[in-house]
Amino acid sequence: MTLNWVFYVTAAAFGAVIGSFLNVVIHRGPVFWRLVDDDSRGNLVAPRSYCPSCRARIRNVHLIPLASYVMLGGKCADCSAPIPIRYPLVELGGALAAITALALFGLSLSAAGAFVFFTCILALGVIDWETGYLPDALTLPLLALGIIANAFDLFNAALGGAVLGVVIGYGAFRLVDMVFLRLRGIEGLGQGDAKLLAAIGAWFGWPILPPVVFLAAILALIGVGVAALRGLKIGKETPVPFGPALAAAGALAMIANGLNLPYFS
Ligand SMILES: [Zn+2]
Repeated sequence: MTLNWVFYVTAAAFGAVIGSFLNVVIHRGPVFWRLVDDDSRGNLVAPRSYCPSCRARIRNVHLIPLASYVMLGGKCADCSAPIPIRYPLVELGGALAAITALALFGLSLSAAGAFVFFTCILALGVIDWETGYLPDALTLPLLALGIIANAFDLFNAALGGAVLGVVIGYGAFRLVDMVFLRLRGIEGLGQGDAKLLAAIGAWFGWPILPPVVFLAAILALIGVGVAALRGLKIGKETPVPFGPALAAAGALAMIANGLNLPYFS
């Protein structure tokens, strides 16, 4: 089926709207799930969106994803406090997720699945970046959806391979953790990292695990290198946000799956 530009524009607009909801999940989810203590943020459905700086309600016309940020020049309409760049970036991420899913899989259930995967992984990566947590409320449903997707044969991973992906992904990271704890008395990887890797295994099967971990390690090292160049002191105790790197590697795995790259064909 050839998809003309109308499909892509519609997908991008839909993706940006979902991205704008993801911003709410990213901002309020960690409080709602009791990972972060900040009651002022509200829950996932109420109150209506407001400026965290001056508490003014955001007008309907300013709830349009991306366009509002540009129209407002990146500032709150009421108090002129800068709107964090994360908001338009996540909205853009939602749009790109929809376009990429459509380009890779056409109008299909696989595309819908890929879009859900991309948006979950985007929310997880940003939440870990901001709070250091990968909430179970997102990793565990993502894991379950991966198994369901493969039960319907959406991503060419054998169901047995997907289940093994969960077991090996979780087990491998927990093992690394136990060794770290023994040797150095600190947790090297969080439990959230193990669950996210298990979820990625659920979507693509166990053979994807080594390349994903390798890629994530490289991305994390690049991240640490950039932070060092920007003047951050890196010590033994410096926490490395491995979750965002793992999330990025997972997104690349989905793209590789859609392109039928090795490991998938
Ligand atoms: Zn304001």
